[in-house]
Amino acid sequence: MKISQACAKVGRDPNDITIIGVTKYVDSNRAKQAVDAGIHHLGENRVEGLTDKYQALNGLEVVWHFIGSLQSKKTKHVIDKVDMLHSLDRMSLAKEINKRAERPVACFVQVNASGEASKHGIKDSEVISFIKQLQEFEYIRIVGLMTMAPLTEDTSIIRSTFRKLGELRKQVQKLKLEKAPCTELSMGMSNDYQIAIEEGATYLRIGSSLVGSNE
Ligand SMILES: *Cc1c(COP(=O)(O)O)cnc(C)c1O
Repeated sequence: MKISQACAKVGRDPNDITIIGVTKYVDSNRAKQAVDAGIHHLGENRVEGLTDKYQALNGLEVVWHFIGSLQSKKTKHVIDKVDMLHSLDRMSLAKEINKRAERPVACFVQVNASGEASKHGIKDSEVISFIKQLQEFEYIRIVGLMTMAPLTEDTSIIRSTFRKLGELRKQVQKLKLEKAPCTELSMGMSNDYQIAIEEGATYLRIGSSLVGSNE
C-alpha cells in the first residue's frame, strides 16, 4: 500500500488514518484471514453480509463498519452490531436509528459531494441543515462525513469531490454542536485512496486491492 507515501507527500501522520478492510466481495474465511493479518476494522455494505460475518467472526477483535445504504426496516438487524455507520443519508433513517439504539451510535453523514444523480447521500447544500436537525436525537453522534468519488480517470474531479467534503467538515465543526463533533472524513477506495489521503481522509474504505475480490 502506498499510504505512507501519500501521507509523506502532504505531511500527515499515517497513524491518523484508519484502514477499513471492505469484505463485501469475500467470504467469512477470507475476512478471518484479514483479521489475522492485522486488519481490525472491517466494512460491509449489505445487512446479510454484516450479520453473517459478525456471527462467523464472533470472538475476534473487530471494529465493524456499515458502509452501504441502509433500509430503515433493516436498521434493527445492524444497529446493535456496528461500531460506525457510514451511510446516514436521510431523516427517516436517523429516526429509526434513534428508536432502535440503546447507546449513542457513531454515524457519518453520507454526502453526494459529486452531485451525480445516481449517488446516494445528502446534497452538499443541505448538509448543514440536516445535521442541525439531527441534534434532537439522543442516540445519534455525527463523527464525520462520508462520500464516494465519481468513477472517472480524471483525478481533478476526484480531488475536488474530496476537497468539498473537507470544506463541509470545517463548516460543521464551526457550529460546535454537542452531538456533531464531525472530526472524521470517510473517503477513498481502492482506486482513489491516495488522493483521499492528500485531501484529509481519516477513514479509508478499501476492498478489492486489500482483502481481494474472491475472483
Ligand atoms: C465496495 C465499497 C468500497 C470498497 O471498494 P473497492 O473499490 O473494492 O476498494 C468502499 N466504499 C463503499 C461504500 C463500497 O460499497
